[in-house]
Amino acid sequence: MKKIRIAKVRQKLEEKGYDALLIKSLPNIYYLSGFTSEDAWLLLTFHNNYLLTDFRYLEQAAGEAKGFEIVRVDNNLEEVLAKLTLNLKIIGIEEDVITWAEYRKIIKALENQTLADASAILKELRQVKEPAEIETIRQAVRITDEALAEVLGNIRVGHKEEEIALNLELALRRRGASGKSFEFIVASGKRSSLPHGTASGKRLERGELLTLDFGAKYQWYCSDLTRTVILGKPEPKQQEIYNIVLEAQLAALAAIKPGMSGQEVDAVAREIIKNYGYGEYFGHGLGHSVGLEIHESPRFSITEKQIIEPGMIMTVEPGIYIPGWGGVRIEDMVLVTKNGVEVLTQASKQFIIID
Ligand code: ZN
Ligand code: ZN
Repeated sequence: MKKIRIAKVRQKLEEKGYDALLIKSLPNIYYLSGFTSEDAWLLLTFHNNYLLTDFRYLEQAAGEAKGFEIVRVDNNLEEVLAKLTLNLKIIGIEEDVITWAEYRKIIKALENQTLADASAILKELRQVKEPAEIETIRQAVRITDEALAEVLGNIRVGHKEEEIALNLELALRRRGASGKSFEFIVASGKRSSLPHGTASGKRLERGELLTLDFGAKYQWYCSDLTRTVILGKPEPKQQEIYNIVLEAQLAALAAIKPGMSGQEVDAVAREIIKNYGYGEYFGHGLGHSVGLEIHESPRFSITEKQIIEPGMIMTVEPGIYIPGWGGVRIEDMVLVTKNGVEVLTQASKQFIIID
């Protein structure tokens, strides 16, 4: 599989007229080589695959990165890079990943070469998932659903948001997750109007909305799930907002088809929320791709022109957030198929009442 991926990278390099690609992003390094630690660089030329790393990782790199020549670097990255790129002219780099300090080293080492941003190459390559990747993500979603069911069963008024976040993480790890795919959002009451309200020391009170947004890191792949529940009987307004968000979410799920642009998909949910008069309270995009990273491209957003293709794995997560009152978000992960989507997330979307 990695050989095919590397061949695709070379094809892109050829199209762009670049002689090599220098990669620092950990997910990209893993995607192309299988190497799982940090402090490494990949250099792909038309004839060689190099993995540059220091003494600590030499043995691991040799075991994991099959088909790569492992090059030892001991505080002499400039020297090593200069040597390996001696006869090359244009080198692609990842401008959104490397630090300023790394950039200074690179331009010193490659003073005779031209640098060009090539971050789009891997971004595009990783958009459509291979069957094995889809299976791994399916499993990540499954354990996320199970973790939610377990934790919801134990939530009571008086619990702290932080305890719930910890319980979610434990439930995921007990099911094989290596960790969390992002900092969990556990936001209750008025805090639920914070789309990214990470768990605090606040205790749950009766009558409050509670939004849980969390996910697993499972065999290097991510999952992402949001549910909003109610602690006790919902007030009419809470029920109304929940129904609108759910209607928008279901409409988007039903509408997605390959060939639509990200903005067309976004508009389906946004129109519904707008028509109910809450457009200004849905301030983020409808969804994003998920893979080795929690937020990948393409997106479902008002500006996304990219066309949706089968094999992409996306979230669909409309929300309404009213400052000082609270908010509701419902998020599923879907696999784009030939005719529409397969909803991977199985967790119930009924307005769950926790009493
Ligand atoms: Zn999420
Ligand atoms: Zn998300």
